Amino acid sequence: MSKQIQGSGSCLCGKVSSTVFGPFQRFYQCYCNRCQKKSGSAFASLIFTTPDKIEWHSGKEYIKRFDLPQALRFSNCFCTECGSQVPFVSRDGSLLLIPAGYLNGDPQIKPLANIFWEDKPCWYEEGQAAPKFDQYPE
Ligand SMILES: [Zn+2]
Ligand SMILES: [Zn+2]
Repeated sequence: MSKQIQGSGSCLCGKVSSTVFGPFQRFYQCYCNRCQKKSGSAFASLIFTTPDKIEWHSGKEYIKRFDLPQALRFSNCFCTECGSQVPFVSRDGSLLLIPAGYLNGDPQIKPLANIFWEDKPCWYEEGQAAPKFDQYPE
C-alpha cells in the first residue's frame, strides 16, 4: 500500500469522511440532465476507481442512497446532514464513484472527458466566459 497515492475526503459538515487510494482510473465531467439535477449545477465531476480503494472513517450511517428507478445505473448518494454528494459503489458492484469535490486536495488525475456534452445547460458557455472574481463582486 505504501506506493499508492492516498488522499482524504469529506462532506461539507464533516460527518462523512474517508481515505481514498489512487491512482484513479477515470475522471469524467458529466453534463447529462440527471447530473444537472443531482448537482444543482452544469455538470458532475466524477472519479472512477474500484470499490476496494476506500476506507471509511466516519459517518456511513449518515449516507442516504437513491437509485433512480427508471435508470440502469444512475444513483445519488449524499450526507443526510449537509446534502453533499459522497462516494458510492455502482449498483452492479464493479465501480467506486467519487465526486471530485468530496476530495481534499489534488486527486492526481485531471478530467479526461466531458461526457453528454450535448445536454449541457443553455447558460453554460456564457457562464464560463463571464467575468471572474476571487470573492463576491462589490
Ligand atoms: Zn455532511
Ligand atoms: Zn451524468
